[in-house]
Amino acid sequence: MNAPMAIPGHIDPVPVPRPLAARADGRVDLIGLTREELGALLAEHGLDPKQAKLRAKQLWHWIYNRGATEFTAMTDIAKTMHPWLAERFVIARPQVVEAQKSSDGTRKWLLRSDDGHDYEMVFIPDADRGTLCVSSQVGCTLNCSFCHTGTMRLVRNLTAGEIVGQVMLARDGLGEWPSQPEGRMLTNIVMMGMGEPLYNFDNVRDALKLVMDGEGLALSKRRITLSTSGVVPMMERAGEEIGVNLAVSLHAVTKDVRDELVPLNKKYGIEQLLEACAAYPGANNARRITFEYVMLKDKNDSDDDARELVRLLRKYKLPAKVNLIPFNPWPGTPYQCSDAERIRRFSDIVFQAGISAPVRTPRGRDIDAACGQLKTAAEKRSRAERDRDAAEKALAEA
Ligand code: SAH
Ligand code: SF4
Repeated sequence: MNAPMAIPGHIDPVPVPRPLAARADGRVDLIGLTREELGALLAEHGLDPKQAKLRAKQLWHWIYNRGATEFTAMTDIAKTMHPWLAERFVIARPQVVEAQKSSDGTRKWLLRSDDGHDYEMVFIPDADRGTLCVSSQVGCTLNCSFCHTGTMRLVRNLTAGEIVGQVMLARDGLGEWPSQPEGRMLTNIVMMGMGEPLYNFDNVRDALKLVMDGEGLALSKRRITLSTSGVVPMMERAGEEIGVNLAVSLHAVTKDVRDELVPLNKKYGIEQLLEACAAYPGANNARRITFEYVMLKDKNDSDDDARELVRLLRKYKLPAKVNLIPFNPWPGTPYQCSDAERIRRFSDIVFQAGISAPVRTPRGRDIDAACGQLKTAAEKRSRAERDRDAAEKALAEA
């Protein structure tokens, strides 16, 4: 579990941090632990097994159902025990470095991990729902050519605690404790922030299990969507072990174009990917797979592309819906967004074939919160710093 996870692709493996790593002050963060892990941790710290199990149950309820961050709030745990807990454990949230609000109501938070890595989370309010876009990694190893996150060099997997911590932080901000089924603002979760969730499978699974636990955060699996760029070997396990809705970043219908846009395509091609989609456990007409398709001018947006998309989805008999995403530009990108008329035409062709293909309204563009715009300033700085260091070194050597 603590060994570095080999990440396929053309980038170096990324070490997975120890889930139970203690903080600098020696205390262990409890967020991200299952009831069983909590019990084991308490036993490790000297409670007898029966006590450990009972306390774990109580702690778990306070943490995930009530949103408590202080042991003193836990009224059914003896007061005398509060200092014992506080000396050893902490119930923390990701540190908020910056919070921004878009003119359309979208919110973006820049978060910092305990060891100084920055990542982002976005909340998109709508009339009938509120969607939290959660990050799974700091940066991404996959380098899709149209995605800003893919240009970040520093990458680390987020722990289960850091992933579920985003949801808990959002709940704090929205004042949605204790957990209740009705009248929530935060109704949906999409694993569409920074990173490729299926390259951080264990932590994403553990975090989402906590999110879905009916006695805790209690979000239904029907309201959670995991988006992958097409990590074929992990898709079946995702369906079996997590069971949430699947979104697949298709973006192109020919090998050449998809190789360019999503380099992972060189490893797992379109047909292989669609086969894995057809086999995705739990996909059916009531629970369709979403195919994301970013609209790039003169790249993947022709009538022929639309027809080929329809042909492929039919060939594999996929219970599919298509999400057409207008490209969100970022500084230095070589791509442009397709014209509105072109996007409409593309959408019409797919719709006429009986497949839903709505055009997504970009949200939060003014604060760089829209799909593919996430890239943390600190990572940019660190790269700039590295460049400066390299320049200084070169000068010193000259
Ligand atoms: N890594 C996962 C999930 C995060 S990205 C994945 O790739 O699926 C969420 C969605 O935003 C993906 O479909 C991604 O391809 C898309 N996206 C990335 N950059 C974009 C951009 N600049 N404009 C529009 N969509 C983008
Ligand atoms: Fe990573 Fe997804 Fe961006 Fe590709 S689109 S670089 S997989 S975050």
